[in-house]
Amino acid sequence: MFNKILIANRGEIALRVIRACREMGIKSVAVHSTADSDAMHVRMADESVCIGPAAGTASYLSMPAIIAACEITGAEAIHPGYGFLSENAKFVQIVEDHSLVFIGPTAEHIRIMGDKITAKDTMKDLGVPCVPGSDGGVPDVNTAKKIGAEIGYPVIIKATAGGGGRGMKVAKTEGEMEQAFMTARAEGKAAFGNDEVYIEKYLTTPRHIEIQVFGDGKGTAVHLGERDCSLQRRHQKVFEEAPGPCITPEEREKIGKICADAVAKINYIGAGTIEFLYENGEFYFIEMNTRLQVEHPVTESIFGVDLVREQIRVASGLDMSFGQKDLTINGHAIEVRINAEKLPNFAPCPGKITAYHAPGGLGVRMDSAIYDGYSIPPYYDSLIGKLIVHGRDRKEALARLYGALSEIIIDGIDTTIPLFDALLREEDINNGSYNIHWLEQWLEKNLAEPN
Ligand code: ADP
Repeated sequence: MFNKILIANRGEIALRVIRACREMGIKSVAVHSTADSDAMHVRMADESVCIGPAAGTASYLSMPAIIAACEITGAEAIHPGYGFLSENAKFVQIVEDHSLVFIGPTAEHIRIMGDKITAKDTMKDLGVPCVPGSDGGVPDVNTAKKIGAEIGYPVIIKATAGGGGRGMKVAKTEGEMEQAFMTARAEGKAAFGNDEVYIEKYLTTPRHIEIQVFGDGKGTAVHLGERDCSLQRRHQKVFEEAPGPCITPEEREKIGKICADAVAKINYIGAGTIEFLYENGEFYFIEMNTRLQVEHPVTESIFGVDLVREQIRVASGLDMSFGQKDLTINGHAIEVRINAEKLPNFAPCPGKITAYHAPGGLGVRMDSAIYDGYSIPPYYDSLIGKLIVHGRDRKEALARLYGALSEIIIDGIDTTIPLFDALLREEDINNGSYNIHWLEQWLEKNLAEPN
């Protein structure tokens, strides 16, 4: 087992990893930008190293600075968290070249899954069901129109290098194809330096269901059921739950096994998420994330396992501490993402927190790096906390969420908490009947006017 791990991240996820290290008796090293000198992850880690100025590109994304920090502190392994360098194959290669361990999958697996066309081809070969669409990249608008006519409108044009909801455009008719095609391509080029695009049938009322998988890198893998992340704004998740309210145990068993078998076959190591759209009882693969997800705690809650601890175990060469037969679902969990954003437009709202009180009690988990008097810097993601509740069933989890939201105090800045207060009053949320468009439609109806 490692003696010391460096966490190449900030915020709540850095704390999450530090906690796992502490439980395992491993020393932790925080890295931080000059804007984060007062950040909680710096205070909580055993050691810290300043790796550059405020801009992420000059600090949390600076590969030489992070490798140097490992050399200075004697850290043997790097946990990347999510975002930043977590899905950067080049970084993984560099880490290995310096005889350090990357706590995550191999560079090769990250490369395959980071390119959506290659990922889809690979998954298809591994027996995973995919959304009907083009066979690989689409070179020009005329070909795009031909494919559109074949699979039928609406279609979605996606940048193969896309992520975070960027580089995707819907064409409802052939008339909209040219514009959508050119925009997706331009976005792919601008945001990811790659203008290759592909086409998929646009599913009209699907749910976003993702399967958590975990592999030991030696041909054994398990699945930990699904999460329903259909409540999204601009393709970004805001509320996640497990198990999915619409998934039957038989469906879970079937798609879970397909996913576990697929990653076992490629000797996948560590945590991964295979994302699907789910419509009329069918699953359609859209992408695989080769890292820990923001919403991993809902899975941890219902299975009673620590995914970060497990990541560290397998990265150090140990076997997984559980097998498929050890994994049984206990109750229901929900996570809401608390962002420093002002409604109704979700404008980023950094600033000083004048008062903070975290909710507590049975089945309540607050993952956050904020504290009384903390100033949220304007340079990074607006996620400032995740509230996760666990109950014996969905009804109890919802009641617990309601209670926790009324307990929490975050003063001095605007947050997305009022959104969740309002959502909990909606019948569809209480019944679990929503799809990937529900939230956008609701926002339009309920939050269009400034409140
Ligand atoms: P990203 O990598 O940017 O997150 P994804 O491929 O995971 O992109 O898709 C993000 C979201 O976009 C999905 O959760 C869904 O809401 C929507 N989406 C993607 N593909 C389709 C499709 N074929 N039909 C309908 N919606 C889609």
